[in-house]
Amino acid sequence: MSETVFDIVILGGGSGGYAAALRGAQLGMKVALIEADKVGGTCLHKGCIPTKALLHAAEVADLTRESEQYGVNATLEGIDMVKVNAYKDQVISRLHKGLQGLVGHHNITYVAGWGTLVAPDAVEVDGTRYQGRAVVLASGSFARTLGIDIGGRVMTSDQALQMDWIPSRAIVLGGGVIGVEFASVWRSFGVDVTIVEALPHLVPNEDEALSKALERAFRKRKIAFKLGARFAGVQQDDNGVVVSLEDGSTLSADVLLVAVGRGPATKDLGYEAQGIPMDRGFVLTNERLHTGVGNIYAVGDIVPGLQLAHRGFQQGIFVAEEIAGLQPAAIVESGIPRVTYCDPEVASVGLTEAQAREKYGDDGVRVSEVNLAANGKSGILKTAGFIKLVGQKDGPIVGVHMIGARLGEQIGEAQLLVNWEAWPEDVAPLIHAHPTQNEAMGEAALALAGKPLHAHN
Ligand SMILES: Cc1cc2nc3c(=O)[nH]c(=O)nc-3n(C[C@H](O)[C@H](O)[C@H](O)COP(=O)(O)OP(=O)(O)OC[C@H]3O[C@@H](n4cnc5c(N)ncnc54)[C@H](O)[C@@H]3O)c2cc1C
Repeated sequence: MSETVFDIVILGGGSGGYAAALRGAQLGMKVALIEADKVGGTCLHKGCIPTKALLHAAEVADLTRESEQYGVNATLEGIDMVKVNAYKDQVISRLHKGLQGLVGHHNITYVAGWGTLVAPDAVEVDGTRYQGRAVVLASGSFARTLGIDIGGRVMTSDQALQMDWIPSRAIVLGGGVIGVEFASVWRSFGVDVTIVEALPHLVPNEDEALSKALERAFRKRKIAFKLGARFAGVQQDDNGVVVSLEDGSTLSADVLLVAVGRGPATKDLGYEAQGIPMDRGFVLTNERLHTGVGNIYAVGDIVPGLQLAHRGFQQGIFVAEEIAGLQPAAIVESGIPRVTYCDPEVASVGLTEAQAREKYGDDGVRVSEVNLAANGKSGILKTAGFIKLVGQKDGPIVGVHMIGARLGEQIGEAQLLVNWEAWPEDVAPLIHAHPTQNEAMGEAALALAGKPLHAHN
């Protein structure tokens, strides 16, 4: 058994772990990054990147199908899933190589293998102990299944991303981010999709106005959904799946996608044995992401909160800087932007209107909503939707909520508005280029400041 001492030993090379490794190395620390599968983790190989590649292929299919509306004569002859997957895999492979190059460039000790926390300052891989002045837990998450047997025609996003055929009919269990993104892709590829969601709305964590607008848009796209519907069971045979609901009804399709959220990947990794505080598998930390045990930190999907790649990146950077003694400012969870990349896109940051009313009272809140119908670029793109700003009365913008094609790209300004606590009165004189969808953000700020330009009042 050999022993090597590092400044930081990181368990897991996903968004959170590799960001901690890169930042730690930049700060001159000796870093070990332990990864059992592939650096880049869920986001790069089974999450953000592959799903967004599929969504882009879906957009190309829709544009081709609707090309005549733009005076372009093209016919959609079909979707070749083998080629779609080749395109998707090429994107992943290029990014994976780039990331491997970065890890090598920074002289990070990359350990390929399964690690276990064996002491407050050590992780063991295949009998070798990697000792660190600090340890960062970043083991990520897995697809929850509600106890449903996964296999054959019943799948999670992991299997759905590998499919080389297109079903005729699909049932998606779960109307959250992953569920609506797959529903959107499949519909664009010609699939009859039905979403089953137990809560009263699709994307139920969003401002209700966004959920309702998405439901209207999905209805228009002929994506069916059952809200407030509870799953009871599924049976499959060679011909398809039959899903039964608690109300006694059944739905049949070729495949069932189980998209009911993600659980923390923390089982049997030695965390409990080392006394790490846990809650239902999640690792509990203070606001500085310290576990309270030894010099152990945790980042990413294993820490309760939004399970998003950019949260993991930021936490990884934060922890590396904290370990280096730079005393970075704590991350504000409510300032983390959220984008759902279905068509139309849903994007938001900060408080929903309901949360703002609860926090500041009905009289303490102001709201503006600008419809994309008056936005030139959105008209060119033929997309509907809106941008809604939620502000504190006589105070800053505290929430931005958007729906419409490509509006995810507007999240950059939205998160600056919220995180820099911008007042609409300060934003109103700033210039938004014409014709862009970004103008709708400027218009919403003008409206919140009480001087809407493109309005009838
Ligand atoms: C279908 C899908 C789509 C998504 N889309 C988006 C999106 O568009 N935008 C977004 O922000 N987020 C998205 N996410 C979420 C995002 O992927 C996660 O939030 C992010 O990957 C979390 O990073 P992490 O570092 O915590 O964990 P992970 O990325 O899961 O990485 C953990 C790593 O640790 C490794 N590991 C685990 N245990 C061990 C061990 N014992 N020894 C060695 N290695 C180990 C794993 O192999 C893995 O590589 C999506 C997720 C899915 C599933």
